[in-house]
Amino acid sequence: MISSRLFQRISAVVSKNFSEQTSFASALVREDSENPYTPEQSSPKTPIELGVSELIYERLRSFGLPPRRLGVSKKRPNVVCYWGPRRFRKSMILNGHMDTAPAGEGYTLDPHSGAVRDGKLYGVGAADMKGALSAYVYAVKALLDSGVALDGRLVLEFTVDEEPGGCSEFGTSYLLGQGIRARVAIIGEPGTDTISIGTRGGYRFKLTVFGEAIHTGRRAWERKEMGRNAILDMARVIIALENLEIPFKPARAFQRRSPVLTFPTKISGGVSISSVPDKCVAYGDVRLMPGNSDKQVKIWIREKLAGIPGLRYEFEDLLFVPSVEIDRKEEIVELLSTHTKEVLGFAPKIEGSGPWNDAWMLVTHDIPTVSGFGPDGEGHHGVNEWVDLESLRKVTEIYARVIVEYLGVRE
Ligand SMILES: [Zn+2]
Repeated sequence: MISSRLFQRISAVVSKNFSEQTSFASALVREDSENPYTPEQSSPKTPIELGVSELIYERLRSFGLPPRRLGVSKKRPNVVCYWGPRRFRKSMILNGHMDTAPAGEGYTLDPHSGAVRDGKLYGVGAADMKGALSAYVYAVKALLDSGVALDGRLVLEFTVDEEPGGCSEFGTSYLLGQGIRARVAIIGEPGTDTISIGTRGGYRFKLTVFGEAIHTGRRAWERKEMGRNAILDMARVIIALENLEIPFKPARAFQRRSPVLTFPTKISGGVSISSVPDKCVAYGDVRLMPGNSDKQVKIWIREKLAGIPGLRYEFEDLLFVPSVEIDRKEEIVELLSTHTKEVLGFAPKIEGSGPWNDAWMLVTHDIPTVSGFGPDGEGHHGVNEWVDLESLRKVTEIYARVIVEYLGVRE
């Protein structure tokens, strides 16, 4: 049992360090790490998060901690930092991405100002999720300043390349490949209203339908001897896939949710106004529930398309991320809930959340992971993003409490 006196001390130290933490969070926001790429375009050569990683690395070192740079290249380093004894029973990962979505169109404020006004810190990534990164660093600082010696091992992970679809091999996946594991993990994606215990998955594909090109003035076309309109065939495909039912088992983390296929989300075809189109390309997006796989979905789609006479098409997989959920009775979930109640005075919802992130990588490596609980803010993946500073301070305190309560302290 951790004494309430220690929690009071932690709270006082978090508050004492908070102006320093705010400046640090602001510096992280000023360091542009917008990641505009799609998963296929991600490159080890583009130093998107390098500046942010250096700020974090240096700050951890200044606390006497031993951060390391680990990544596919010198330009895309993740920062990993262990804290705790050599021999330990329990371990916990705090994981957060250093890249941000690109500034949305319509920003009326400087997207990288890091300005503080009326209790809010502004700029791209303030909420998603540089505020949370500062909370990891200053939760540890609060414990160091409180004289805490952990009984278990804390693993801080500051990762690269999450924004292009939560499916990169450079970030969390890379660290798992290096054998970095723990018993549990938290990803501090924004919002204190929900402790996220799962994410839906996704499958994205490209479908190309082939026809036969011919000039529309030709007799052979008129007599239906030659030519086939690829766009017309694509229209048949669209109708066939409309309302495609994807079977699924109900999941506790996603009450009243179901898988959904949206097709097409993007389409193009045809070359000139007087030619029969030889090709039509369309994209589809499927939101998945736990247990659904891309392979199943593809079989169901192919079955539907088999009913269209003479159809010629090609399928290309663009992305697959499985849906994951963890048990709401996991100790880490209950601890987060308890300490949120004590610090913020309300009980967060415990459920799965819509968009996925790197959590599935950890969960599929048998690490129960909270896929979202972090400081409140607004405008992420939108405009004029900000994080609420009061919420940031409280969440830092919650993280610090959960670290000591879960890992324990050495007397
Ligand atoms: Zn995020």
